[in-house]
Amino acid sequence: MKNPAPLIVWFRNDLRLADNPALTHAADSGRPLIALYILDESAGLRPLGAASRWWLDKSLTSLAQDLRDQIGGQLILRRGAALNVLSDLIGETGAIAVYWNRLYDAATIDRDWAVQSALTAGGVECRSFNAGLLNEPWQVITGGGCDFRVFTPYWRAASATAGTARPLRRPATSLWRWHEIHSEALSSWRLHPQRPDWSGGFVDWRPGEAGAQRRLDEFISGAVSGYAAQREVPSIAGTSRLSPHLHFGEVGPRQIYWAVAMGSTTGDGTDVESFQKEIGWREFNHHVLFHHPKIAANNFRTDFDNFAWRDDPPALEAWKRGRTGYPIVDAGMRELWSTGWMHNRVRMIVASFLTKHLLIDWRRGEEWFWDTLVDADLANNVANWQWVAGTGADAAPYFRIFNPVTQGVKYDPRGVYVRRWLPELCGLPDGFVHQPWEAEAATLRTAGLTLGDDYPTPIVDHALARARALNAFRALGASRAPVRSPAA
Ligand SMILES: Cc1cc2nc3c(=O)[nH]c(=O)nc-3n(C[C@H](O)[C@H](O)[C@H](O)COP(=O)(O)OP(=O)(O)OC[C@H]3O[C@@H](n4cnc5c(N)ncnc54)[C@H](O)[C@@H]3O)c2cc1C
Repeated sequence: MKNPAPLIVWFRNDLRLADNPALTHAADSGRPLIALYILDESAGLRPLGAASRWWLDKSLTSLAQDLRDQIGGQLILRRGAALNVLSDLIGETGAIAVYWNRLYDAATIDRDWAVQSALTAGGVECRSFNAGLLNEPWQVITGGGCDFRVFTPYWRAASATAGTARPLRRPATSLWRWHEIHSEALSSWRLHPQRPDWSGGFVDWRPGEAGAQRRLDEFISGAVSGYAAQREVPSIAGTSRLSPHLHFGEVGPRQIYWAVAMGSTTGDGTDVESFQKEIGWREFNHHVLFHHPKIAANNFRTDFDNFAWRDDPPALEAWKRGRTGYPIVDAGMRELWSTGWMHNRVRMIVASFLTKHLLIDWRRGEEWFWDTLVDADLANNVANWQWVAGTGADAAPYFRIFNPVTQGVKYDPRGVYVRRWLPELCGLPDGFVHQPWEAEAATLRTAGLTLGDDYPTPIVDHALARARALNAFRALGASRAPVRSPAA
């Protein structure tokens, strides 16, 4: 081909070079490539939360560097509605095709369909691929041809094919076309927080493909052994912490699935299976969101639509700031605020506290998590919030109301986690660290703690709040047989 027309690779939540089918197929075409990322903030698409913007900033920097250093390309950055940006770029370069990897939420699907039909009508080839899931949502169906609503049968069916597709290698150096194509400066997008820059606690994260790979390697050589038991202990690094890397597609589930299956040499397979099952929950949540797109903002169980959630701004604010007076709840909320991440067990405890002890609508919690989590992911966030609130598919039964004291004692018996995030409780003996209000005045004095001043007294009484929640849920007629939880 003499001066062949270029092909655009449109990067989205697949910010990696390896196991990136859109990139690999584009490279195989032999055409010069244009690597593009679009910051599309059009109405209808959910704006990124602040912590996600921080992550995206670093991840794009890393991708641009990898493209340049490893396969000789340049990442073009443009902001605007995707169709306008792509149409402009096609007009400027004469590109004849656009390749991308699929996403599964309704707003993005609608946007992508509109892009595809407009470009195809103009004679531009559009191809999309699966980079983000082991099984696409429509590939796993019941014997009756329906979608699954319960995790266990879903995973039984899905895990049979989950490990079949091998991850792709990073393409070798490709032809690139970027000269004289304008790219916006990443700094002009102002993704990194300014005045104040609150991201000091995010220092341990390494966004980007290399950081994701390192995290995976460390997990395989370390915490995967013992994962089944240690994943419940918030004071230790007993889980992979791959969630933000997975969300932004710096590593894909196929790569993780294979690496863990091949790389783990210890144990009897229980740890690997337990870990793969968590990847399965991610798959299930995407499956449910795809088949029931309304759950992004609505109860899966519509009988909850008339539920009288309480409007209590001071309590919501106390929850957000980690000032409820329940140490395990407050430690989790402060871990989230400081690092952009929270341990799964503690996410369940704080979500239960908000929706059951405070009877505040799960959507308020979901919004806060969306803004503050570096792994904020529509399918996982919405499904987990609805799971805890009891409004979701395969949800926890309404009568499961975590007691924040017994949960703290069970999963953080020495108070290591709580003391890390609530240094004001450091001086308390272990027996009181999850219930400081039970300590006698002399004990509090010795610990240098004035309750209500250094640390709040509980904003609700556990027994009263539990009874109030049970009454409210019973009044709704909510009843379900207990089901297995992701953490069971
Ligand atoms: C209220 C609530 C909100 C949540 N919001 C999100 C969210 O926005 N984004 C997000 O990725 N996860 C969310 N989770 C799920 C879970 O807490 C995180 O995925 C997990 O803590 C990430 O840590 P990890 O990577 O070390 O997990 P690991 O234990 O190492 O698990 C490996 C991977 O499996 C997936 N996974 C693990 N647990 C779950 C789960 N319960 N549901 C779905 N996928 C899971 C994640 O992709 C994770 O990276 C939420 C959980 C709760 C209870």
